[in-house]
Amino acid sequence: MAKYTRGEFLGFGAALAGGFMLGRLPPATASALAPGLPQPAAGTIGDPDLVVVNGRVYTSDPALPRAEAFAVKNGRFVAVGSTSDVRNLASSRTPVIDAQRMAITPGFIDAHCHPSGVQELYGVNTNLRTVREIQAAIKKKADATPGGFWVSGFMFDDTKLDRPLTRKDLDEATTEHPVSVAHRGGHTTFYNSKAFELAGITKDTPDPPDGRFFRDNGELNGRVAENARGVFNRVGKRETFTPDERRNRARNGMRYMSELFNAAGLTSVHNAGTSPEHILAYEDCRKNGELTHRAYMMIRSTEAYNGLKAANIYTGFGDEWIRVGGIKFVADGSASERTMRMSTPYVGTTDYGILTMTQEQLYEAIDDAHSHHFQVGVHANGDVTIDMVLKAYERALQKWPDPNRRHRIEHCTLVNPDLIRRLKANGVIPTPFWTYVYYHGEKWKEYGDEKIAWMFAHRSFLDAGIPVPGASDYTPGPFEPLMAIQSMVTRTDYKGRVWGPNQKVTVDEALTIATINGAHASSEERIKGSITAGKLADFVMLEQDPHDVGPDSIMKIKVNRTVVGGKTVYPKQNS
Ligand SMILES: [Zn+2]
Repeated sequence: MAKYTRGEFLGFGAALAGGFMLGRLPPATASALAPGLPQPAAGTIGDPDLVVVNGRVYTSDPALPRAEAFAVKNGRFVAVGSTSDVRNLASSRTPVIDAQRMAITPGFIDAHCHPSGVQELYGVNTNLRTVREIQAAIKKKADATPGGFWVSGFMFDDTKLDRPLTRKDLDEATTEHPVSVAHRGGHTTFYNSKAFELAGITKDTPDPPDGRFFRDNGELNGRVAENARGVFNRVGKRETFTPDERRNRARNGMRYMSELFNAAGLTSVHNAGTSPEHILAYEDCRKNGELTHRAYMMIRSTEAYNGLKAANIYTGFGDEWIRVGGIKFVADGSASERTMRMSTPYVGTTDYGILTMTQEQLYEAIDDAHSHHFQVGVHANGDVTIDMVLKAYERALQKWPDPNRRHRIEHCTLVNPDLIRRLKANGVIPTPFWTYVYYHGEKWKEYGDEKIAWMFAHRSFLDAGIPVPGASDYTPGPFEPLMAIQSMVTRTDYKGRVWGPNQKVTVDEALTIATINGAHASSEERIKGSITAGKLADFVMLEQDPHDVGPDSIMKIKVNRTVVGGKTVYPKQNS
């Protein structure tokens, strides 16, 4: 274990530089350096701002995997080692946390999430377990809403309901308002008859190529998938807000998400669908001291993308709190809503799922973003879609070689050995769902054992040498990293059913996925993702050690404290 004395610490600027030179971090070539990555503040001398001792520190740093203690100065780790060595660095003025043998890990990183918080604060939550409850929630909102205006629910989960929801069920809640009830997965929505009427959709309307109006015996049953929903967005009246009201709601929402994330141990979150409104919300929260998670913004807005391009801004621009990430596209359906496009059908059906982009559209979109220096993240769940996206990445990388661009396939759910080989060969990062096996277990029977052995394939990615990160896709999946770790380690759902046990990972591998691999997916592994001198002091203290509790109890472990940049953000501090 590294030895530090107070004297050495006082000269830590040199030691810090040494740490970087000695290759504690994954080797970074010049092209791997995202523009504008700040260097650690070397040469600062004085007492540490914080010392943590007597912990079981799992660093995620292969050069020093275990430690007992560390010191923090100016928001960064400055020393990592034994309790006696690090305690030595503290003066009488230094705050010291005695971790009482608690497990400490780097702050958790969610590499694909949709934080907004606006629906959570202001929307109609339909994450309910009976049709009757959903009807009541919609009716309550409808009673307070003028006729003709939309009433919209979110977080609906079809497989956790007492029986299938129908258009007629929603008609019973109201016929005066168009109603939408959006699945938490984000790819399907149920509508009432009023909504279909306003949209001009009848049972005779053909399905578009990139979406579907679901029918029972020829009649619309209310469920609509993918881009077939676009027509509903253009009809009916909606609650309007002044620009200031919108801005405040967005800021309140993002502040709320920061609080939820920190309570779960998350310190960095990749926003996989960043809009101009989100960017403003991040800035507003930061200005007001309310942004307590680090944001990597994957842009999904033509307007924002074009603006960035025009300004010569591309992936990596920003700082350690708010950074421009990749450009996001969506090429197929959903895993949780069973609309992803596969080479073989869903069990007992002739349904192969839905593509939302053509090969030609993928070539065009990826060429444009790649040639403008952006990382690209394309949502592709099914093996057919993953192959199409890889073709486009392979082509772009051939035209404009850049081996360290780290393009991503968002979700990358159903793979096979050939797809994994091509991911690895092209340095492409998959971001598979990490809470799905546990939380969405009841959905996996529609895929069958053969497919599930190759879905959410964390084990296969690690074995292939791919630094796979973790991703909740919240709202589609819960974001709690401890649930994710349990899910990846056990491959067991909430009812005890096991799905694809060949894909199990160890607790240590799960921690690697949850920390340093998340930093790698945003090309930030040099500044965060491990408890290493010189890196941002983001860490989590856990009341029990995930190595010690039974694997089926990992998600019950309580987060004792979450620290971002050396500052405790959970529990909330008064000052
Ligand atoms: Zn997503």
